[in-house]
Amino acid sequence: MRKNIVAGNWKMNKNVIEAQQLMLQLVNYTKENASNCEIWIAPPALYLLMAKDLFALNEVGIFSQDMSEYESGAYTGEISAEMLESIGATGSIIGHSERRQFHGETDSHCNAKIKLALEKGLTPIYCNGETLEQRKSGKHLEVVKNQTEVALFTLSADEIKKVVIAYEPVWAIGTGETASPEQAQEIHAHIRSLIAEKYGKEVADEISILYGGSVKPDNAKEIFSQPDIDGGLIGGAALKIEDFSKIIEAFN
Ligand code: PGA
Repeated sequence: MRKNIVAGNWKMNKNVIEAQQLMLQLVNYTKENASNCEIWIAPPALYLLMAKDLFALNEVGIFSQDMSEYESGAYTGEISAEMLESIGATGSIIGHSERRQFHGETDSHCNAKIKLALEKGLTPIYCNGETLEQRKSGKHLEVVKNQTEVALFTLSADEIKKVVIAYEPVWAIGTGETASPEQAQEIHAHIRSLIAEKYGKEVADEISILYGGSVKPDNAKEIFSQPDIDGGLIGGAALKIEDFSKIIEAFN
C-alpha cells in the first residue's frame, strides 16, 4: 500500500518568529488530531534545525526545498545531501518549477540530486509538470514523459520505490487555477504507467504521486479522491494552520 502524503512547501515566506509560530501550531495540531496521511513540511533551509527541534516528538517529515547536485566543497550558497542527513532531515524537494524557471534547473540536475539524496537515505520529492504553452499545444503527456525518463529512469527499481513524485502543472502553481481532478488523474495515471512499463506494475503501485498547484481546503478532497493521486504538495495553503489542517483532513 502506498502512502498518502500532505506536504507543505513554504517557499521563501515567513521570518523566524512567524516560522516558529506556524511550526508550534502544527505541533499542537498533530498532538491533538490523528490523521490518515503523512504530514511533511519544507520550510526555508534556515529553519530546518528549528523544525527538527520543535517536531522532535511528532511524526512530521522535515524537508528542504532544494539541495545541491554536488557532494561537497566550493559551492557557495548550497546545502548538501550529507548536511541534510546530518541534521536528521527526511528529504528534499527536487526540481520544483520555480527552481527550473529562476535557477535554470533541468531534469539532468534533478537526476544527479535524486541519486545523492537516495545515497544518504533521504526521500526526494521529485517535481515535474508542463507549462501552459505545452498544455495548449497538446504536448503535456510527452513533456511529463521526458521529464520522468531523464530524472528517474537511471535509478534501480529499489531506488525509484523510495522517490515521491509531485506532478505540478506550472500553470496551476500559485495562480489560483487548479488542474481539474480529471486532468490531474490523467497525468498521474500516465506517470504510473510509464513506471510500470519500465519497472513493473508492482513497483509503480508502490510510488506515491502527489498533485501540486493551487490545492486549497475546498478542492483537496475531490483531487485526493482520484485513484492515482496520493496527496498534495501545497504552497500558499500551507502557510496558515487553518488551511493546511483542513487539507490534511481531506483524507479523513
Ligand atoms: P501553490 O504551490 O499551492 O501555492 O499553487 C504549490 C507548489 O508550488 O508546490
